[in-house]
This record gives sequence, structure tokens and C-alpha cells, in this order.
Amino acid sequence: MIPFSPPRIDQLIIDEVTAALKSGWITTGPRTKKFEKELAAFCGVNSVLCLNSATAGLELVLRWFGVKEGDEVIVPAYTYCATANVVMHCGAKPVMVDINETDFNISLEKIRAAVTPKTKVIMPVDFGGLPCNYDAINALVNEKEIKNKFQPVTDEQDKLARILILSDAAHSLGAVYKNKPCGSLTDVTVFSFHAVKNLTTAEGGAIAFNLPAPFQNEKIYQQLVVKSLHGQNKDALAKTQKGNWKYDVVEAGYKCNMTDLQAAIGLIELTRYKNDTLKKRKEICSLYSKLLLNCNWAELPLFKTDYSESSYHLFPLRIKGINEKQRDEIIQEIFNKDVSVNVHFQPLPLLTYYKNLGYRIENYPAAYNNYSREISLPVYYDLTDEQVKTVANAVITSVDLILKK
Ligand SMILES: *Cc1c(COP(=O)(O)O)cnc(C)c1O
Repeated sequence: MIPFSPPRIDQLIIDEVTAALKSGWITTGPRTKKFEKELAAFCGVNSVLCLNSATAGLELVLRWFGVKEGDEVIVPAYTYCATANVVMHCGAKPVMVDINETDFNISLEKIRAAVTPKTKVIMPVDFGGLPCNYDAINALVNEKEIKNKFQPVTDEQDKLARILILSDAAHSLGAVYKNKPCGSLTDVTVFSFHAVKNLTTAEGGAIAFNLPAPFQNEKIYQQLVVKSLHGQNKDALAKTQKGNWKYDVVEAGYKCNMTDLQAAIGLIELTRYKNDTLKKRKEICSLYSKLLLNCNWAELPLFKTDYSESSYHLFPLRIKGINEKQRDEIIQEIFNKDVSVNVHFQPLPLLTYYKNLGYRIENYPAAYNNYSREISLPVYYDLTDEQVKTVANAVITSVDLILKK
């Protein structure tokens, strides 16, 4: 069976995790802090905070900005549930909007139509690793008419004086937009290091801070360190300093810090990320594209535009002219050939919880159209060219079989 997305665990990773174990320091400590610095350099920002998930990062930022009951947060209908769930955690309303059919990313015009005086945050998702059009999104929230609608009620909202852009970049570490790395493209960016993501720490996530003046990103980093550790004003490492046992709790914070065992994996992953991991992922996607190019039913994914390049997280193939049922039958056929594939994503309005809240898939025709014809092919470091060919053949014969029926 060809798996969908196993992590790359080799001796280098095992040695670094072992070194962390033997160091006697396994929770947040020197390796996490080093990983944060190296991530910041990689993303072109001054501060990055590592956490135990992207979900925690998204929620901490919403909490920091004071998002609460009565507020609205604009999210794409086509994303993983985490994007909207964190809005629910804050008691606010996720306002779902449709996507562009071309690149699966949130539609600028649909964002514009969804802004109200209650809108506090927009959360674009870089689907499959291709960055959203951030210049356009950043410009939108600075338009006079949109700014005038904004109603600040916290110090942070007052200071920003407009809607916050919080990028869900769970797929797009290493992606590039107008020669700038993902992380430095908008106010705040959150990455995921979950086991299936491009760069993994088993579980993990990070926030890259890039807020405009007068915000001081290092200060916000410090505030969120405290928020991520029960509101404690000293972390475990600081408390081990001689006589430094006493700490205070300044708020009822959360508990979502990254451990040094996770950071050990991340440090190795990051050193070889750009020139090895991304290169390999790009080669795999290019080979799939080449092998499927002559299939008239294949709609190949977009990895590059005039101004951006993906991190090649997914290979979201679409089959022309099929319905959801046929897509599911094709997937079954592919699995019968011992190849694992996936679907990214079930649009949120199709999920029971959001359906029960009143969201209707009929309002998101582009999301449904893409979803109903989508099959994600395996992309991971250890996938060989031979296996890529096996996958492509399994897809081709399965599609041919179902289309002939
Ligand atoms: C994986 C993913 C997340 C959640 O990441 P975690 O690190 O598991 O919390 C959020 N958004 C999208 C789009 C994802 O794919």
C-alpha cells in the first residue's frame, strides 16, 4: 500500500530527539527558542512563537485581539475545521465565504461583500500551499470605506484601527509571494507542524508576527508566551535559575507551549527544508503533472502564478465533468489498487456541526464544485518516482473505468 503522507523519520531526526532526551530538558527550553529564531529568519520576521498546534496559535491571536461574542470573523468555506472552530471557541461567528475556483483560495470579492461593522478579523487560508493574493487583501482592509466600518473596542483594535489579517498558513511554510516568504506577507501568520504537514514536529505550530507600527512584535511575542503558559510570568526554564522560584499569574491563560522534543524534530526538518524537502515535493508534483498532462479529463493544480509559488503541500487533482458520487467511486477504485489518496477538504457547510448552525453548501457553489471533483494524491519526501508512476497509473485506470460506466 502506498500511504498518503508519512513523516520523514531518519537517523538525523532520531539522533536529535535522543540528544534532547539525554540533555535532561524535554519541555520548552533551549531547542524551542532556537527553533523560533531559525523560523523567524526563514520567514523574514523578527519574532516567531512556537506552540503545540496551529489551532492553538490561531486561537491565541484571536484572543489577543479581543475577539468575542458578537464579533464576526471571515473565513473561507473551503478549509479544515480548525479555521472556523477557533472562532467558535471565542464565542464569535465564523462568516464563511466562497473561494476562487482556479486556486481554491478565498475570493477577494466575496470577502468585500461579507464585511460588516462586526468584522474583526479575516483568516485567509493558503490552500495546498499557494499563497492568497495578500497585497489585495491587505489593501482591502485599508480602504477608507472598509476602515470606516471598523468598530474597535479593545486597545489592540484601537491601535490597528482596521480589520486584522490572520493568515492560516498551515500548508504554506516556504511558499513565496512577490519575492517575499510566507510569514512576512500580512499582519500575523500561523503555521502547522502536524505530522502530515510539509515540516513536522509530530504536533506543533507557530505564529509569525509582522504587525505594523506602533505595534512592537517582540512585545506581542512576550504577551503570547505568557498566554500560552497559564498566564505565568516565568516559564519552567526561567524558574530553574538559582533562587528564581517565585512567579506570578497575571491572567487565566492557556497551556499550549511547544516541547523541546518537538523542537528537536523541527530543527532538523528546517535545516533541510528549502533545498531538500521543498525541492523533492516540487519534483513529485511536476512528475504527476507530466504524467497526467495528456488526460483530457484532468484539471491540474496551480502551483505557480506570475507572482507566487506554492510550497507544494498538496496535489489537488480535479476530474472534469464528474459528480461527487463518481469521485467517491474513483477513490474506491484507487484504494483497491493499494494507493492512498485523500480529499481536501469537505467544505465546512457539509459538516454536521456547521450544517446544524445553518450554513448551507448551496451558498458556496465554487467550494462545492471543487470539492466534488477533487482527489489529493500522495506527496511526501520518501515517495519514489516509481511510486509516483504507480499512483498516476492507478488514478488513470480508475478514472477511465468509472467514466466508461
Ligand atoms: C492542519 C490544518 C490546521 C490545523 O493545524 P494543527 O497544527 O493540527 O492545529 C489548520 N488549518 C488548516 C488549513 C490545516 O490544514
